[in-house]
Amino acid sequence: MKIAMVSEHASPLAALGEPDAGGQNVYVKRLSETLAARGHEITVHTRRDSPHLPERAPLADGATVAHVTAGPARPIPKDELLGHMKEFSQQLARAWHEDPPDVVHAHFWMSGMAALPATHGTGIPLVQTFHALGSVKRREQGAGDSSPDERVRVESHLGRAASDIVATCSDEETELVRMGVPRSQVTVVPCGVDAHRFRPGVTDTPGRVPPLRARHRLLAVGRLVPRKGFDQAVRAMAVLPSAELLIVGGPPAARLDDDAEARRLRELAKEYGVEDRVRLLGGLPHEELPALLQSADLVLCTAWYEPFGIVPVEAMACGVPVVATRVGGYLDTVQDQQTGIHLPSHGPFALGTTVRRLLAQPGLRRELGAAGRARVLERYTWDRVADGVEEVYVKAVARAGTGTPRLQPLGPPPGIRPVSRPVTGA
Ligand code: UDP
Repeated sequence: MKIAMVSEHASPLAALGEPDAGGQNVYVKRLSETLAARGHEITVHTRRDSPHLPERAPLADGATVAHVTAGPARPIPKDELLGHMKEFSQQLARAWHEDPPDVVHAHFWMSGMAALPATHGTGIPLVQTFHALGSVKRREQGAGDSSPDERVRVESHLGRAASDIVATCSDEETELVRMGVPRSQVTVVPCGVDAHRFRPGVTDTPGRVPPLRARHRLLAVGRLVPRKGFDQAVRAMAVLPSAELLIVGGPPAARLDDDAEARRLRELAKEYGVEDRVRLLGGLPHEELPALLQSADLVLCTAWYEPFGIVPVEAMACGVPVVATRVGGYLDTVQDQQTGIHLPSHGPFALGTTVRRLLAQPGLRRELGAAGRARVLERYTWDRVADGVEEVYVKAVARAGTGTPRLQPLGPPPGIRPVSRPVTGA
């Protein structure tokens, strides 16, 4: 199949760890590479955020990144991109008129918003993956949510207008149904992990960080945004004198001083008297993650909410147990008492005591880690993910070929005009 991926802000070629570069980038990159290795022809359309980017750049054999000019060629926070989606959509329509794909897979709501009018009337099926939902973000972040106001309405429209929705976890499926999306239109296919690179033991990859004096190592990884809940891990260090905590994510280490969340976490560490055992490493290349994860006794995933969460799956692939809040994708990936431990999501919870109990039981940690690795091999390799997504494409293309869309195509959302809206915060 000729497959067009649309990922407006998240380029598969971007460096990871900054506020707008994380799981979606990894997903689009690895899914595209895996599908290309199966003989499909992939083009990933992503916004040009630098004048130096070529028109097209190779991603893998059979997979290319097409840089779409929409708005100024410089980085723009994703919550300020809406005003450029009309131009993005026109570019897609032009590209697909010249060279129509068999199927389009849009990632994130704004990609869907751009892809929907560009596929309208062409018979090309549109598969949508949201990666995160505005309704959840608004509920969890309240006034701190900097998404454009249109987001929830557009997502609910897209959910019904796209040919198929690929949700990444059952919690997301429930939310989509709550939004009025027919359950029959949703297929749950999780995100994945490269189980060859992320594996137990000590691999010969970069990323080894010498230990401090501490006996145990705790690791937390993710974009440096408050909703990842790194502050909970920092606070817990006050009752974990045998441990050091490494936090990976954010800008590269040299620029961490400019990062508001990094400053907040450092202040907090000082306030709790644990600054000598909490190390912020900044954003690191994905290639360095296996060695770091392997060096950890436990991986802490303490997000307030999490649409999927690739990090716990990467930890499990490395045979490291995960302590995770009981939210979102973690509910599917981390099995309580089997591959890790679930904690309540908010408030003064028992992170410190749970971690202390696990650190005192190396045998239990080994068991949880082994079960995590087995679960990954069974469910979360990119090949499994590609199987599930490919099946959705095949069905969508077959339906389109017989002229029987699952639902009547709805067309572009009524009354939605891309507008610029200056916003702050992540
Ligand atoms: N990641 C990375 N370097 C960093 C921070 C994160 O390679 O400095 C990777 C991490 O290993 C994972 C992804 O970025 O593969 C984050 O995905 P996740 O789904 O956990 O979070 P999201 O970014 O989608 O909120």
